[in-house]
Amino acid sequence: MNETKKAALKIGILEGDDIGHEVVPASVRIAKAAAEAAGMAIDWVDVPIGRRALDTHGFTMPEGTLDTLGALDGWILGPIGHREYPKIPEAINPHPILRKRFDLFANVRPTRSFPGIGCLHEGIDMVIVRENNEGFQPDRNVVAGSGEFRPTHDVTISVRVITVEGSSKVARAAFEIARSREKRLTLVHKNTVYKLGCGMFVDACYAVAKEFPDVEVDEVIVDTMALRLVREPQRFDTVVTTNMFGDILTDEAAGLVGGLGMAPGLCIGRGSIAMAQATHGSAPDIAGKGIANPYAMIESTRMLFDWMGHNRKMDAALEMSRIMKSGIDAALADPATRTPDIRGTGTQADMVEGILRGMEKAVAHA
Ligand code: ATP
Repeated sequence: MNETKKAALKIGILEGDDIGHEVVPASVRIAKAAAEAAGMAIDWVDVPIGRRALDTHGFTMPEGTLDTLGALDGWILGPIGHREYPKIPEAINPHPILRKRFDLFANVRPTRSFPGIGCLHEGIDMVIVRENNEGFQPDRNVVAGSGEFRPTHDVTISVRVITVEGSSKVARAAFEIARSREKRLTLVHKNTVYKLGCGMFVDACYAVAKEFPDVEVDEVIVDTMALRLVREPQRFDTVVTTNMFGDILTDEAAGLVGGLGMAPGLCIGRGSIAMAQATHGSAPDIAGKGIANPYAMIESTRMLFDWMGHNRKMDAALEMSRIMKSGIDAALADPATRTPDIRGTGTQADMVEGILRGMEKAVAHA
């Protein structure tokens, strides 16, 4: 037990843009406090990325960043405001490169309701596992060029890539998550229309299902899923779907529980590297105002340590996750330690302090 507690992790800090400069440092502060309480030694490594990296290193994804990341156990990635980048070759969107290079093929996005914060339903506790590296996303479904092109002025063609390998990998990740939860997995697709693409995805999921006979599987067509999520989200436990459907449904799910500030995520792959990345963008409209909800980024960070704990059998990382959860739950229970987007009267700083106090209490009473 003590041996595990002393094991060190190397974790990268990539602030990203806009509110990333607020919510990422907040998450690191909370993780550091949890690590100290859990007796976990972590090396924190600052890695330049995004607009500030463009200013300091001449590139939004500076040379050497990928090698630095490859030597880490995982990292916390803040939101990237690439739409505001100047239109120059040095200002690229790093997301697809990171996900591809580290084979982070599954984007795990939980949705949970908390009382008093403006959720549309009580009792939601669901995880959507979104395929991350293929599908309709034109910047990541081909190795060169783009999956979207315009052969004539009035014709645009968007290519959707579905592979047996990509579908099987995300399915296996989803089955494993389902097995650790209520052992129920819903496949979301539209094989009624996309007979080949969604058909391949569904077939691959059922092939993987044979390895998980203890997990009950059902299927919902994506448009029906959009409707059922609004009406009866409590019916779902673990959901797996292709990239673009997952992109849309996870924002819808966030809307059910208080908005994008309540939508955390963890990108995982086959290896032992994982990347904490909230669902939200860089929210330039509220950057610098001290009101961005840090929950999504902090919870993503907690998920990173929870995953490290399970994946690498590190008790101290699991303890960090438990301590962080106590603090987060305590802060969310009090309007004074919640941001305005979730019916709070506090600021981001109040929420962070509330989480830290909740963690201290949890440690003191342990
Ligand atoms: P992207 O396409 O890059 O994901 P987006 O178009 O979804 O970005 P966001 O930057 O996520 O846009 O912002 C959408 C809205 O949600 C904005 O009004 C923003 O202020 C709000 N928002 C996003 N994140 C948060 C947060 N953490 N706390 C409070 N509000 C947020």
